[in-house]
Amino acid sequence: MRQLLDGHATFRREFAAGAAPFLQKLASEHQSPGALYIGCSDSRVVPELLTSSAPGDLFVVRNIANAVPPLNDADASVGAALDYALEVLHVEHVVVCGHYGCGGVKAVLDGHKKLKQMTSLYEWLDHLAPSILASRIELVDPEEQWRAAVEANVMQQLVNLTTFPAVRKRLEAEELWLHGWVYDLHSGGVTVFDPAGERFVPAEHALERGPV
Ligand SMILES: [Zn+2]
Repeated sequence: MRQLLDGHATFRREFAAGAAPFLQKLASEHQSPGALYIGCSDSRVVPELLTSSAPGDLFVVRNIANAVPPLNDADASVGAALDYALEVLHVEHVVVCGHYGCGGVKAVLDGHKKLKQMTSLYEWLDHLAPSILASRIELVDPEEQWRAAVEANVMQQLVNLTTFPAVRKRLEAEELWLHGWVYDLHSGGVTVFDPAGERFVPAEHALERGPV
């Protein structure tokens, strides 16, 4: 805890003091983020850091393995954030960002049934299991398997987003864009899903294609 309080003191001294007008402006206006970011709770994947975002730029939901429970699922926490982001904040972009090396995805690949004593975690992972397990390919190197499962999990969450009528309506009206990303812990780079090539490509390539 000492580390957190010391860190906060540094934030007050080195950022907040010099950014008083910016913070006042943020506080006096409604928030107006450009994107809803749905990512993993993993402490090593920090959305604001990897996108160079400032306070006010991103509306963020993080949970184990960046999951989007479909509409009418018992867990409505992501759906609630989605409703607010679309209906109130009118965000135009939703990013689902997984990451290679995701422990939640690995737990499913390794057989999450042994985690049954952690009821909530078990049930959460059980939701993710079908698409992750479907991504398994015989004789593939375990590391490759893990990477493929991470990507499949991101893609499934994009599909789950379309179970929400508000998402479908805005997609059809071309008022909303969904993005699948995977962050690489080693390089700090992001790969993004390219619908044209149906594969993940480095974010730099996506930028070269023009506005996204
Ligand atoms: Zn993770």
